[in-house]
Amino acid sequence: MDLLITHATVVTLDAANTILPDGAVAIADGRIAGVYPAGAVPPVSGTVRELDARGRVLLPGLVNAHTHLFQTLIRGVYERLGFLEWLRGVYHTGRVLEPEDSLAGALVGLTEAVQGGVTTVVDHHFLNRTPELAEAVIEAFTRVGVRGVLARTIMDVGGLAPPEVIETPEAGLRACETLLHRHRADIEAGRLQVWTGPNTPPLNASAALVRETHAFARAHGIGISTHVAEATSVVEAVRAQQGAEGVVAWFETLGTLEPPLLAAHSVHLTPGEITALAKHGCCVAHNPVSNGFLGDGIAPVVELLQAGVPVALGTDGAASNNSQDMFQVMKVAALFQRARRQDPMALPPETVLRMATQHGARALGLEHELGSIETGKRADLILVDLGTLHNVAVHDVQSHLVFVARPSDVRTVLVDGRIVVDKGVLQTVDTEAIRQEGQARAARLVARLRDHA
Ligand SMILES: [Zn+2]
Repeated sequence: MDLLITHATVVTLDAANTILPDGAVAIADGRIAGVYPAGAVPPVSGTVRELDARGRVLLPGLVNAHTHLFQTLIRGVYERLGFLEWLRGVYHTGRVLEPEDSLAGALVGLTEAVQGGVTTVVDHHFLNRTPELAEAVIEAFTRVGVRGVLARTIMDVGGLAPPEVIETPEAGLRACETLLHRHRADIEAGRLQVWTGPNTPPLNASAALVRETHAFARAHGIGISTHVAEATSVVEAVRAQQGAEGVVAWFETLGTLEPPLLAAHSVHLTPGEITALAKHGCCVAHNPVSNGFLGDGIAPVVELLQAGVPVALGTDGAASNNSQDMFQVMKVAALFQRARRQDPMALPPETVLRMATQHGARALGLEHELGSIETGKRADLILVDLGTLHNVAVHDVQSHLVFVARPSDVRTVLVDGRIVVDKGVLQTVDTEAIRQEGQARAARLVARLRDHA
């Protein structure tokens, strides 16, 4: 044993939803070595470090299943636009975004995420003017010490997106192959996954690209991340261009509706498409704050869960959220479904916590490694302090985590058993230097965007 966390309220999220009021968790070699109720805690001896977690809640680290870290530098730049014009603005960033911007934006976004309890981040990357832009995100994952998935997606249809960020499927997949080869050691260690995907079919991704990314993912045993039916305009486009009733229906006719497929958004689905996602074992990444910000609509989360589709949660990028706050995402996810269904029982807190942890793990094929506090799983854990003023008074700890707690209540974060946040402060990087660099790069980036307008 390396570390023993004692006197915590342990929210295990195991199958029985066990909560240990004065529990302890032992960690050895980056994994959970034991989970103990009060009275059964092993003695601490020798070099074992004890972390007294009185007043704090221990829960699995949060999984942010969908974000775009470069957008940290363009928070609020493209507001007050309809979905398609907003997209045009975001894609326009790709004309002038430099690898140093990509690194700076990712470092700011990841610092915010990890200090707020996120231990795994999926960066859906789509601006690929040069290969260094994606490399910079992986560099940031490593520096911050977070578990990362770089979904290096492809756009092969221009129009909304400028020519600088359009690639052939072959060129995009070659770049994915290079990333897989270059980062093999981190991939094998479980710290990193490299995925691919068609970015936003059919707006910027052809049928050929959808098929080729699917075939590539199968051949390499990796996942697909793709934006699915985020706004009604996307569904109108797939109906007009492809004669399919929706994006999921189109994928099914192409033979590409197969796991591991992470369908971000999935706001506008027919009942038949919900059944199809369930039948084929695909997952959804739900981004309620972003969907609300852009006025896209509210995804049928209750119906997806009832059908058996895992629904992970994501912030989406800072151009439509505008933060990496997963506590806010959990709260808004619950509120949207309750309002939409006119049902205060829709999406209970336990379900929301499982979405933010287990469903995210499932979407990444890591359900046996992450998402609950059980012996043998990786020690990606967070301690949340409910002893602060706005947390008075705690009666139902799971409800509290979803509706009351804030990112600033996160005091400790462990990834693979390594303490990356201690007393609320990220230990791996100089957060003040990252803040200054991010602010300076953002100002210069926006000035260049104006010059290129
Ligand atoms: Zn997105």
